Amino acid sequence: MVEIKKVSLPKLSYDYNALEPVISEKVMKLHHTKHHQGYVNGTNSMLGLLEKHRAGDKSVDLGSILTKLSFHMNGHLMHSLFWENMRAPRENNSPSKEVISRMKQHFGSMEQFKKEFSEAAKGVEGSGWAVLAVRDKLPLVMQVRNHQLMHIVGAKPLLVLDVWEHAYYLDYENRRGDFVDAFWKLVDWDTVEKRIKECCCGTDNECKGQ
Ligand code: MN
Repeated sequence: MVEIKKVSLPKLSYDYNALEPVISEKVMKLHHTKHHQGYVNGTNSMLGLLEKHRAGDKSVDLGSILTKLSFHMNGHLMHSLFWENMRAPRENNSPSKEVISRMKQHFGSMEQFKKEFSEAAKGVEGSGWAVLAVRDKLPLVMQVRNHQLMHIVGAKPLLVLDVWEHAYYLDYENRRGDFVDAFWKLVDWDTVEKRIKECCCGTDNECKGQ
């Protein structure tokens, strides 16, 4: 039987203090080394139990493994996307003309997209994420509960924002809205554009700006 490949904590491409003052060094460090590491450990532990079950150890509760695997693996994957779509804050943090034109085409305007995404983030009940994803060339804002609920099948994430309390509470206390509004300064639009090109551009000129 093929051994199941384990996951590992990705290194950040910036320092823990790089996102200040929007996200403090303390929050980034805890978030990456404790929370994300916890999802990595949880994923690997569930994959290990799955291997045991397949090898014949039927004392392992398969239903519980699969439930926890979905939670932890999606937690790991969502955080990996999240770190990559942020960079040091910029006051006038605008995407390229291509991204703006694409957003305009689908959402009516960049402002409308930001409004939908911000409202999704501010309105998540309990713990979750706002996600801009694209499915069959249709970009959609999704509100993901926990890490794994309410996804649209086949939708590829382009931009994600963690609104679990651990992502902002030490910096913003109960003011999640302030955190979401400040997040726009951090968005690494180059990463978003790269993800658009990877998932949505065919061989024609459809991504050359319209
Ligand atoms: Mn998180």
